[in-house]
Order: sequence, then structure tokens, then C-alpha cells
Amino acid sequence: MKWDTSRIQSWSWREHTPGAMVPEAGNAAEYQTGTWRTERPIWDESLCNHCMICWVFCPDSSILVKDEKMVGIDYYHCKGCGICAVECPRKAIDMISESEARAQEAAAEGSETSKVTEAAHA
Ligand code: SF4
Ligand code: SF4
Repeated sequence: MKWDTSRIQSWSWREHTPGAMVPEAGNAAEYQTGTWRTERPIWDESLCNHCMICWVFCPDSSILVKDEKMVGIDYYHCKGCGICAVECPRKAIDMISESEARAQEAAAEGSETSKVTEAAHA
């Protein structure tokens, strides 16, 4: 069954399925499930030996792999369960709160912006 959710934001309660059941199997890739996350896995590449244990355990297929090596985490789909951090034998993945991660991103973007601004006025 193809489930059309293109207007889901404007659905009334009558249009939702009973119990918010998802009637279409295998469709998680189509949704930004990363917005559910309250904790974010942070990968330290310098500690990683590319054993792929996190890839085996990740329930959301969010460990990104290229040429048989881990290359990052798909934050669009990662739900922040923390299984990868628990299973990693090298402790190369650390979980931090999503709010802390966003604050760090904002600070990094701010420092990049200020560098550009400083360069423009030099
Ligand atoms: S489990 Fe840890 S060491 Fe192994 S690939 Fe994942 S992050 Fe790297
Ligand atoms: S936190 Fe969970 S969903 Fe996200 S990459 Fe790790 S195991 Fe996968």
C-alpha cells in the first residue's frame, strides 16, 4: 500500500490512522527521523579503527560507509538511541545532548562568520 502523507501537516484527527499506526512497511528512509533525537552521537575519527561494529548494531542504518570505512553519521535519520556509542570498542562515539550539539554548531558558525567579517574589514 502506498501511503500518501504529502498533506499530513494539515490532517485532522480523522485522517490519521488509529493509534498513529504506519500502514506502509519499510518507509523510514523517506522521513527525517533525526528530528526525534534528543541525544547526538559525535564520532571521533582519530579513535576509530573502522571495525564496523557500530554499523552492525545501528537500528536506523545511519552509519555512513565508503570504501569499507566509516565516514560519518547520517543525522537526517539517526534517532540518537546511543547503541553505537555503547557498542564501539574504541569509545570513538560520544553522546551529547542535542541542545549542546546545536549550541556548539551555532558557536562554530558564529566564529566562521566573524572570521569572514574580520577579513572583509582588514
Ligand atoms: S564501532 Fe567504533 S571503532 Fe568501530 S567503526 Fe564504529 S566508531 Fe569506528
Ligand atoms: S545513535 Fe542510534 S541511530 Fe544514531 S547512529 Fe548511533 S546507533 Fe544509529
